[in-house]
Amino acid sequence: MTARFPFDNSYARLPDRFYTRLAPTPVAEPGLVAVNRALADRLGLTLPDSEAEIAALFAGNTLPDGAAPLAQVYAGHQFGGWSPQLGDGRAVLLGEVVAPDGARFDIQLKGAGRTPYSRMGDGRAWLGPVLREYILSEAMAALGLPTTRALAAVTTGEIVLREGPLPGAVFTRVARSHVRVGTFQFFASRDDVPALEALCTHVIQRHYPEAEGPAGLLRAVIAAQADLVAGWMAVGFIHGVMNTDNMAISGETIDYGPCAFMDAYHPDTVFSSIDQFGRYAYANQPQIAAWNLAQFATALLPLMPDRDAAIEDFTQAVNGFADAFDTAWQARLRAKLGLATAEDGDTGLALNLLEVMAANGADFTRVFRALSGPDPVQARSEFADPTAFDGWHEAWARRITREDGATRVARMQAANPARIPRNHRVEEAITAAVAGDPGVFERLMAALADPYAEDSGLAAYEDGPTEQTRVRATFCGT
Ligand code: AMP
Ligand code: MG
Repeated sequence: MTARFPFDNSYARLPDRFYTRLAPTPVAEPGLVAVNRALADRLGLTLPDSEAEIAALFAGNTLPDGAAPLAQVYAGHQFGGWSPQLGDGRAVLLGEVVAPDGARFDIQLKGAGRTPYSRMGDGRAWLGPVLREYILSEAMAALGLPTTRALAAVTTGEIVLREGPLPGAVFTRVARSHVRVGTFQFFASRDDVPALEALCTHVIQRHYPEAEGPAGLLRAVIAAQADLVAGWMAVGFIHGVMNTDNMAISGETIDYGPCAFMDAYHPDTVFSSIDQFGRYAYANQPQIAAWNLAQFATALLPLMPDRDAAIEDFTQAVNGFADAFDTAWQARLRAKLGLATAEDGDTGLALNLLEVMAANGADFTRVFRALSGPDPVQARSEFADPTAFDGWHEAWARRITREDGATRVARMQAANPARIPRNHRVEEAITAAVAGDPGVFERLMAALADPYAEDSGLAAYEDGPTEQTRVRATFCGT
């Protein structure tokens, strides 16, 4: 059977200045590392029969019928500094498919070769970041948070040069769309109002059909980002590069670069080797999201006939992010503590726990999961000084008497994953795959598929790192 993708390429119907049409650059020797057949089914894709044909397809060596390949242009603020032109420097959008349920998805090859937006880059990716994105994006989906998805990973049979020679790879990313805050910024910074209008109409139709005009779109994106960032915080996720070009208008987590889930809880945690000042530290993420949304609001201003009134209205909307985030975050914290009802002291109770955890090097995921079990006192051993937990536990035990005890364990386990893609496990999977053994990666993927389920057979994936295996820095996806 040959590949059949139900393409309908609406982005390719936007004006020429939105992209450059070009095909992926073929690679020497495609090798299939992983293909997500469940996702292919969900999208309504028919894949070729043989692994070699599947590898050739997701390497960009053969194009499915109906593809309209292109590289998208965008701009963005990177670490606060303005870059007037970025764009898909190593990615090619094959097109959009409309799934059997009517939902529309981009299919993009990342690492597909040079484009007009490559600047100094080689347009390629190596196997490490490809597998990292595969693992983390699928784990994020399994955790129930909005995210781009992983459809395939293939090796190219070519070497890419980074710190040394490394095996080249291509990642196939699926997204509701790849439109970013930076896409709006690109056209706004050029005073290209017709393009901004077309982009605004495109994303409203695609993502927020109920939103009315730019003001409605702004508020919808703010609400989506508030929920998303609260969701990240609730699972201990640190994006690592929240530049405006890495913030999707759809509200999905996008651009898994030096991102990581934290082990020991500390609000200042940073992994990214390029984030020297902690701009994108765990606890800074809500403020950074608000800052990015202010840039989005600014990019929408040229669409507003009464600029002064719009500035006032948009400022109010962006200021509303903090409240929306707090509401979402408090709901997440209450769920994590098993509180189905809301009482005044709940947020303080949650914040006290986080404080004690930070002071005691306690593992974020393990503490909440232990609290979710039939015997919450098990959490004690996660604290450097277990007696520091006791005082907090007494207060929580009193609070929880006013909740439904019969459903507590089930509710808390559904809010507190047992397994997250821990950094040392991700590194271990990458190292083995580079050495030619994909089994470690496959077992990790299986372990992360149902992260809220109790499974004693997977206990090893619930452990934090040892001193030897602890990962202190993660590197950008390039
Ligand atoms: P990122 O940090 O992955 O969000 O990338 C920032 C910008 O650099 C984007 O415009 C990317 O397309 C571009 N880029 C990253 N890596 C490469 C590469 N190896 N070759 C060409 N462009 C790249
Ligand atoms: Mg990016």
